[in-house]
Amino acid sequence: MNQHVQLPENREPDPAKFIPGATGDWELIIGLEVHAQVTSASKLFSGASTAFGAAPNSNVSLVDAAMPGMLPVINEECVKQAVRTGLGLKAQINKRSVFDRKNYFYPDLPQGYQISQYLDPIVGEGTITVDMIDGGSFTVGIERLHLEQDAGKSMHDQHPTMSFVDLNRSGVALMEIVSKPDIRSSDEARAYLTKLRSIMRYLGTCDGNMEEGSMRADINVSVRKPGDGFGTRCEIKNVNSMRFAAQAIEYEARRQIAILEDGGQIDQETRLFDPTKGETRSMRSKEEAHDYRYFPDPDLLPLEFDQAFIDALAAELPELPDEKKQRFIESYGITAYDASVLVAERDTADFFDTVAAGRDGKLAANWTINELFGRLNKEGLAIADSPVSAEQLGAIIDLIGDETISGKIAKDLFEIVWSEGGDPRQIVEDRGMKQVTDTGAIEAAVDEVIAANPDKVEQAKAKPNLAGWFVGQVMKATGGKANPKAVQELVRSKLGL
Ligand code: ADP
Ligand code: MG
Repeated sequence: MNQHVQLPENREPDPAKFIPGATGDWELIIGLEVHAQVTSASKLFSGASTAFGAAPNSNVSLVDAAMPGMLPVINEECVKQAVRTGLGLKAQINKRSVFDRKNYFYPDLPQGYQISQYLDPIVGEGTITVDMIDGGSFTVGIERLHLEQDAGKSMHDQHPTMSFVDLNRSGVALMEIVSKPDIRSSDEARAYLTKLRSIMRYLGTCDGNMEEGSMRADINVSVRKPGDGFGTRCEIKNVNSMRFAAQAIEYEARRQIAILEDGGQIDQETRLFDPTKGETRSMRSKEEAHDYRYFPDPDLLPLEFDQAFIDALAAELPELPDEKKQRFIESYGITAYDASVLVAERDTADFFDTVAAGRDGKLAANWTINELFGRLNKEGLAIADSPVSAEQLGAIIDLIGDETISGKIAKDLFEIVWSEGGDPRQIVEDRGMKQVTDTGAIEAAVDEVIAANPDKVEQAKAKPNLAGWFVGQVMKATGGKANPKAVQELVRSKLGL
């Protein structure tokens, strides 16, 4: 891509995202190619297992080892997973696609080529709506999704003079998901990866486990002066964590800006990110780029299916994050931000759905996000390991809702349920935690506080805000069990405010 080519652009420039340089502002342009391992028991063209962590070369069939005469047979489940993902990306599903051979030599590629899809991918253009922390969102265009084989793994650190090869990954199905260059910052790139992963996890098509290599990203980065056409890009290969992706982008943007401001030019090249140094370095330039000599794989027919195949998969799709978010906003009356937090993972969304059903949605969101998630984070626990179940949290909220306990006592109750378990209503009963709504008892407490603090009573006449202090004293005196609304009303009337 050179300076003069103008691609269609989906996004208005946003000065808040510009990077200041010595010669003025720069705009960062990012496009991601994500390799997502298809969730499937067996490989794309063989019956060998895809299980992670097996002993080297134990999950290798004759096809994966490219023994002479072995023929690939397409795994229907992998095709379904690609179509499901395409539907989740609201993308064009191509009823006819073609597997091509991408030829190159590498010791961990026994076939001497990778089976991939080139001109006719299984999925065409789509979109992802990406949510940002500040509650805003933007759209990233999807260029395509194609199916391809993973390669094996060379190991150079096992022996002083030899390299070893593990073919367990050889032939595992990957989806390569290519975005348009619609991403404008490292934060946006992270948010895009997070959303893509969330969609695939909801669909059950990729576990998104970056530590195990189930999701890796090639990151294309260029910079330009706002208003200019796209600049020359560099591609940072195989980044396997969100944090590294953000670091690589930041480093690469600064490197390119420094070269351009120095009067230099960007060479289109492939680079590697070194996590220990936090730098990218050149791997190969455009001149050294491979000529893959793509051609349709003669061992495989074009992949064809009909609309009924797509419709059947579409009918079984689960509710996806965007739809769930909309439903949460509409039926529970919660904010877009809270809804985004709640739907990010399917199990947290399901948890909240149970807590909120038939209850005050805002109260349910507040307790789920602030109390429960806050506490889980602090203890480093996942929602699946929460000591407080959705039913228990719901019961606590019911007790607040019917004014059996105050919000403050509810926090104590939450602590008890967290550490001891049990039925919240029974605990309140047994431990006498019920809120005092008996106005006689509250009145006595209010009178006492007023009688004991004549100076404050005087001050309150001039400064009505001081009523809050009286409410606090009464709450303290009643062990937090007085109904705060009743206390407030009594304090105000007794002080004549
Ligand atoms: P190729 O086929 O050579 O890999 P593509 O046009 O398919 O090139 O683009 C690959 C990726 O690079 C896509 O994710 C795309 O969004 C991104 N990209 C293209 N041009 C630029 C650019 N100027 N700056 C940043 N990213 C870009
Ligand atoms: Mg590419």
